[in-house]
Amino acid sequence: MGLGIGFDAERNQLLHRVPFHGLKKTATLRTLRIIIHQRRVTCARMTEEARLKTLATLEPLTARLLDIQRINSAASVLSWDQETYMPAGGGEARAEQIAVLQGVAHQKLVSPEIEKLLAQWIDPATGAAYEQAGDLWDESSRSLLREVWRDFSRAKKLPSDFVVRLSRECSLAQQVWAEAKEQNRFALFLPNLRTVLSLKREEAQYLGYKDSPYNALLDVYEPGATIAALQPVFSTLKARLVPLLKKITQSRVRIDDGILRQSYDHHRQLEFGRLVLIAMGYDFERGRLDLSAHPFTTSFHPTDVRVTTRVYEHELQSCLFSCIHEGGHGLYDQGLDPRYYGTPLGDSVSLGIHESQSRLWENCVGRSRAFWRFFYPILQQTFHHQLRGVDVEQFYAAVNCVKPSFIRVEADELTYNLHVMLRFEIERDLIEGKTQPDDLPAIWNRKMEDYLGIVPTTDAVGVLQDVHWSFGAFGYFPTYTLGNLYSVQFFEQAQREIPHLDDEIAAGQLLVLRRWLEQKIHRWGRMFTPDHLAQRVTGGTISPDPFLAYVEKKYGEIYQL
Ligand SMILES: [Zn+2]
Repeated sequence: MGLGIGFDAERNQLLHRVPFHGLKKTATLRTLRIIIHQRRVTCARMTEEARLKTLATLEPLTARLLDIQRINSAASVLSWDQETYMPAGGGEARAEQIAVLQGVAHQKLVSPEIEKLLAQWIDPATGAAYEQAGDLWDESSRSLLREVWRDFSRAKKLPSDFVVRLSRECSLAQQVWAEAKEQNRFALFLPNLRTVLSLKREEAQYLGYKDSPYNALLDVYEPGATIAALQPVFSTLKARLVPLLKKITQSRVRIDDGILRQSYDHHRQLEFGRLVLIAMGYDFERGRLDLSAHPFTTSFHPTDVRVTTRVYEHELQSCLFSCIHEGGHGLYDQGLDPRYYGTPLGDSVSLGIHESQSRLWENCVGRSRAFWRFFYPILQQTFHHQLRGVDVEQFYAAVNCVKPSFIRVEADELTYNLHVMLRFEIERDLIEGKTQPDDLPAIWNRKMEDYLGIVPTTDAVGVLQDVHWSFGAFGYFPTYTLGNLYSVQFFEQAQREIPHLDDEIAAGQLLVLRRWLEQKIHRWGRMFTPDHLAQRVTGGTISPDPFLAYVEKKYGEIYQL
């Protein structure tokens, strides 16, 4: 690659890390030349005289953003506590506390001070930084302004009282959903779902959209994503995954995954999960592992990033793979540059990219032969009684067993995308008003039968299984599939760039991969858009083909197709 945007950005990043000394001057001139070349400014004399504005110019803005981020982080601590240690009785009070903090953060973001600051630097119609010959922004500042504008302009469209109402209703709905799931009563959750859905449709109207209100919500989680872009991806996946699944279910190879459902001690499962997290480079000085009903990762700052897991005595996979999965998310958040905390440059770029990090660790690493060559003997020692007669090949096959199942989070990497596709179609139709919440259980079960050939026995393992809709996260699900696709593209690039990566993994040396991800992805925050980042890392854009080739090869071999 020549002196493209990538080099330019890396150089700029370097400038912020190095004090104003000799290197700075040379680098500045070089950076300038690149930018000016890109912008087709031809006056050679001006190159030498141009003034380059950096993040220092933006200090009045970033100081305010820092305060807002601190409020948001405080709200995240309250949410983390709600999911882990809060007694059930605290639910209503907690919903109010979080709603107030989110309301304050929202008011601060849309305040006249921030608007005034932004107005002097950027074009309010496009969010692009004002630049004239002789007065340019460096790339970090330009990215920061672009992303702050994205957040500001969206927040500005939402009335503050709406934000508080949405937050409160979502907190409450989440608690009712947990109860409804527990009791297997969809009807209990239905009124809250109706409320949240109508608020999200209202939100889409405030935000504005092209083609479908669902696009407005999708863009919140995955900047730039649209139904029109997703549809062909899902169609390609469906066209190749459904026949592959059929071949697998008809294969003569039978995998015994019953070995994963023996009795496994709770404490030892957690200890093994912790050991893998440490090997991955998850820093316990800046993190914690706790238990929650639904495993998740949350970050209050790169120095305090928390992951959770759950432990089932008779499902060895659950704790193990949720630790690796959340660990992948945790590494991303721990890898963000703490000096940019509070600004978009210190924030993760999108949920699709975030999920690519968790899926890369969970599947490309955690479900690989190389990984178990090192970790299986340790696991075998930990559970000597259960695993003494099981060799590594049997274990590898067991953790890669493909079987249509009801629960998305426990699905194998092949059927997983079919679970996501079903949710994508349902939530798109809900937001577009083509489906009514009352009909959800029936629609859910019909689609499960169509895509996976099975019908959930209860709503608890059907339409009620996921928390997302209860907290208003419509448009979130597709990012799981984007994450799966990105994960394979990133991992294959790592294999190309890191000498003998598979051997390193087989020797338990996972840090080399963590460092690569940190350099290529984590530390950039929102410097680049998701598309641009993928382009920089892999040289291409997102595509279902590498993922499909990967699963076809891997499962073709396991199932002797
Ligand atoms: Zn995840």
